[in-house]
Formats: sequence, structure tokens, C-alpha cells
Amino acid sequence: MDKNGKFVFDEELVKNFSKNCAMCHESNYMRFLNQPLRRKDETAIKFLRALHRAIEIKSAGKERKIDLSLEQQKAVVVEFYKSLNQEVGDEVKSILDGTNPMFDTNISSNDGLGQAEGDVGSDDNSKKINFNLTLDGTIDGLRTMAHEAAHAISARNKTSFELKSQPKAKRDEFYGFLGRFDVDCVGEIESKIIEGLFMRFLVNKEIISEADAKIFADISLISFKNDLAQILQEDDIIACFDHAITEEHPVSMSEFKSMIKRIKKTPNFEPLTLRVEDMAAPTHPREIKFAEYKVRYIIGQIIADVWMREYEKQPRTQRKEMKAKLVEFITQKTDKCRVQDASKFLLDRSLIDVASEFYARFDKKLKV
Ligand SMILES: [Zn+2]
Repeated sequence: MDKNGKFVFDEELVKNFSKNCAMCHESNYMRFLNQPLRRKDETAIKFLRALHRAIEIKSAGKERKIDLSLEQQKAVVVEFYKSLNQEVGDEVKSILDGTNPMFDTNISSNDGLGQAEGDVGSDDNSKKINFNLTLDGTIDGLRTMAHEAAHAISARNKTSFELKSQPKAKRDEFYGFLGRFDVDCVGEIESKIIEGLFMRFLVNKEIISEADAKIFADISLISFKNDLAQILQEDDIIACFDHAITEEHPVSMSEFKSMIKRIKKTPNFEPLTLRVEDMAAPTHPREIKFAEYKVRYIIGQIIADVWMREYEKQPRTQRKEMKAKLVEFITQKTDKCRVQDASKFLLDRSLIDVASEFYARFDKKLKV
């Protein structure tokens, strides 16, 4: 868009948009969104729309600074993991300290400039798993450390990591069977449950207050709703094309123009056009262009939320059992199961049942 908010049509933009949409159309993500749930007319995307409408939250308090040094923050996270399982705690300690031979650990601070962030992964050339973390001196930074530590524990067991030394054909065969999409989504289940338990732990240890925990829960819900909004926007845009966009049938300039015309009639015209521009950006990484990336957080949050509610209702012995199962999930299961299996393993019910339970919390008509 130009500075007057008018859409600038250029050939290059349409070409990029078409190419990126074709990639999106052919992905497991689109299949996931359009798969029927229980009844034929009920699809994942319809469910997400209803969920987006039902969640009413707009603002949250600000997460506060935390008065702990880096070493103290590491110690808190290690103590938390030890409360789950001694061995896992020891391993988290070695990863955070940079003494674990499987990991390249890189923890830095942005001195409060910008958000905390982290990632765990490996590129084809490295023999080690990268553990990258940027702290911002807030509760959010501490939370991120616990979140990424969960990914680290499951990554060192990942079949995908063992596959790194295999030829590409072998790797494709593996993902072809399992579905890359499922693998990515399962990964976020462990880290979101860990976040929930970790916040409880911090409150019990009086490192944070109940009010801090409430702010964390509100922020999580807002970002959940924002992720949903992005998925729905993208679906609105793609739905403007009645034929599937493929490499053989790219979007023409006239089709693109009529799409923009239709978008202009909608009440949320501006965010939608910005989204079109995002989707057409040639240089952005794929995960920024597409809401596909966001689905993992949606699934992780839904399962984690229902898991935490169940956990809090249970007596001590059952809680211990749930924690033991979670540890088994993180250390042994995440690389080998689909989202559906994860839901069955952790909560003994299907993803649809878990999602319906989550939804019922927000729908006033269903509320008891
Ligand atoms: Zn994560």
C-alpha cells in the first residue's frame, strides 16, 4: 500500500503472492484446516472461528522485571525440572551451563530492549543441537528459559536429530510418513504444559505473586487470540480464490485485483491488505508469511490448558502420575507421535474432545 492507503498493484507482488499461496495450498496445514471434525460441515477452521468469537479479552497488565541474576534464573529453572524428575533436572542444568556435549548453548541478554526469545534446533552442518536464548530481565524471560529447556530435552532424543546423518531421501521418507506439520505441532504441547506448571511452581516458591501469574495467563490468551486472528485472515484471503492456486494455475493480475476489491468491502479491510502484502513478501522467512506457523501454538495452548485444569483438580498421587507421564512424553514420545496420539497419551481423550472442553470455557451459553 502507498502512504494514502491505496493498494499498489505490481506484477512482481502478484507473482510472489501466487507462488507463496500455491505452496500454502499444497501443505498439510490447509488439509488440517479443512478436515471435517465430528460432523461433515464442522471443520477445523469453523471451530477456530467460533473460538475466536467466544474469547473476550483485550488487555493485560505488564509483566514485571525480575530481580534475579542469570545464575539465579538458571538455578530456579533447574530446581523446577528436578521437581519433575531428578535426571531431567541434571540434564537441563548441563544444557544451561553449556557443559552438555550434545548442545551448543548460547544465552545472552538484551538488557530489556525487546522481547525475550529462544529457539532450539540444528542445521544440517552442525553435529550439535543449538540452544539459543535471549533474556530480557522479566518474568517472560524466565518463562522462555523453562519453555526452551523442554524443547531441548525432547530434541536430544529426536529421531529427526539422528536422521541428520542420513541421506536426504531417507529423511523425506520419514517426514512423508509422519507429516512435518504434526511433528511441529506436537513440539509445542510439551513446552506449553511446562509453562503452566512452571508458573505454578514460581507462585508456590513465592518468586512471583498470584497477580503476576494472572498477568501471564492474560498475555497468553491475548497472543492466542491474535494467532487465531491471523489464521482466519489468511483463510479469508485464500477463500477469495475458488480454484486452488497451484504452480500450474497461478493467480492472474485481474483475479488479484478482484480479490482486493472484495477485501475492500469487508470491515477489516486494512489488516487484510497488510496481510496480503506479508504473504507476497519475497524475502521474509516462510514462517512469517504464513499463519501455518501459528497453528502449533494454538494446539499447544489448547492441550496445555486442559491438562493444567485437570492437574489442579487432582489429589497429590494423581498429580504425581500426570507429571511422570509428562516426563515420559517429553523424553521419549514427542518425536514419534502425532497430535492425536499426544492428546490420547496425555489426557486419554481425542483432540476434538479436548478442544471442545477448551471452547466450553469461553462460550457463555455453555458456561455453568
Ligand atoms: Zn516452543
